[in-house]
Amino acid sequence: MQRYNIITEVGDGTFGSVWRAINKESGEVVAIKKMKKKYFSWEECINLREVKSLRRMNHPNIVKLKEVIRENDTLFFVFEYMECNLYQLMKSKGKPFSESEIRNWCFQVFQALSHMHQRGYFHRDLKPENLLVTKELIKVADFGLAREIISEPPYTEYVSTRWYRAPEVLLQASVYSSAVDMWAMGAIIAELFSHRPLFPGSSEADEIYKICSILGTPNQHTWAGGLQLAASINFQFPQSGSINLSEVVPTASEDALNLISWLCSWDPRKRPTAVEVLQHPFFQQPCFYVPPSLRFRSTGYATTPPSVGA
Ligand code: ADP
Ligand code: MG
Repeated sequence: MQRYNIITEVGDGTFGSVWRAINKESGEVVAIKKMKKKYFSWEECINLREVKSLRRMNHPNIVKLKEVIRENDTLFFVFEYMECNLYQLMKSKGKPFSESEIRNWCFQVFQALSHMHQRGYFHRDLKPENLLVTKELIKVADFGLAREIISEPPYTEYVSTRWYRAPEVLLQASVYSSAVDMWAMGAIIAELFSHRPLFPGSSEADEIYKICSILGTPNQHTWAGGLQLAASINFQFPQSGSINLSEVVPTASEDALNLISWLCSWDPRKRPTAVEVLQHPFFQQPCFYVPPSLRFRSTGYATTPPSVGA
């Protein structure tokens, strides 16, 4: 750690505090995440499946893990530095984002998700705080760490991961899939338009209540599997009809609304994959943004866009 000058704290998350720092030798600005949990052996660190997967993930829209350091039983992750997260951006920006801004960000995030999902990983904790922005560029962060470290009780103010949690996870499904990330993206896109969370549940039961009050109570037709899941834990869905999504996200275009409701399908099997999303009419406009300098990386990863049409 002596190789870095620690500048200032930029984030305090569930599992670690994040600091802006400068590599003394190269002058490069980095983000260093100091993990709260102690790691008593190096084996324990490098065998974290997520460390391996993160190091392998090489995509212009996934925050790059540059280095892992263990010093005095404390684990540090060194990441490329990003200016801010989407939650901060929503809070600080008075006026709403334009649809083209939202489209550009989402296009990049879905490319990252398509890359991950095709490699058998899924994020499980997508939320505005875990999407990092530098100018027009957006990157998925905090990927995969949650799974390994989930046993440590989460504890910060805004970690309302619940708001982005898919219904099958709320209903304690034993198996779930990358479709949980698709659900989260539906909720995030709606929030980017309205600057307020789509399903701001105050408890797990209230979360389901909030979802029912917008999508309508699930039935045999919309989500037979969900009725079974609910029965298996003795849960009764609150009864509610659906409302028009345009009532809660009034500034979104027809295409955007259509995409949000597809992503937020009760039934995970009815949600689109990231590849399908990238072909949705919402993205059929020539204004997506992947910086040319990042399209071809020295590592050999080529993307224009990487997984569309795969
Ligand atoms: P946790 O697992 O504790 O939630 P995160 O990796 O999500 O930790 O980081 C917490 C916060 O720190 C993020 O929401 C973000 O604001 C900031 N942060 C994380 N990584 C970076 C980075 N690479 N560059 C800049 N800020 C970051
Ligand atoms: Mg986080």
